[in-house]
Amino acid sequence: MKNRVLIELEERLKRSRFHHTLRVTDTAMELAKDCDEDVTKAEIAGLFHDLAKNLNDEELLAYIELHDLEIDDIVKRNLYLAHGMVAADIAMREYGVDDEDILEAIWYHTIGRASLSKLAKIIYVADYIEPNRVMNGVEAIRQVAESGNLDKALLMTVENQITYLLTGHQEIHPNALEMRNELIRNGVK
Ligand code: FE
Ligand code: FE
Repeated sequence: MKNRVLIELEERLKRSRFHHTLRVTDTAMELAKDCDEDVTKAEIAGLFHDLAKNLNDEELLAYIELHDLEIDDIVKRNLYLAHGMVAADIAMREYGVDDEDILEAIWYHTIGRASLSKLAKIIYVADYIEPNRVMNGVEAIRQVAESGNLDKALLMTVENQITYLLTGHQEIHPNALEMRNELIRNGVK
């Protein structure tokens, strides 16, 4: 299964995206070890998370309509966010992925959600801190993540993303805010 997935991913994705995928997968597996999560599930979710990244907005929308995916209006207006939902659906239909945690991790990696599973938190953070990422503050998040404090790493990640969107006057998905607020309510700091 893994070899077929790797070959097809390499065919589907641009070279840089393929290598990003491999780095996210490695990072997610490391985090899974540090956080007592299933390493194989982290591997599968990492490999599939950007599976639909080769599709443009029109193709994403066509896929969503064809398969009747439940996509909210904010994602419809910012269709790049839909590559997570479409990837989860392709992983399910074409690769037989049926684990709820894995599908959730892939589906929500672009918008987050309150009460994410541990696996989904790992993918969300790994996507942001994989070794080639150079955003401001990413090194501090890596250190927190590697110390095993996944919720704090998730809070730092989503706050960085929200700040970036605010600065760029871009729409912020309410899921990201709800995820952030829940972490604050739970005393993460
Ligand atoms: Fe992505
Ligand atoms: Fe990614």
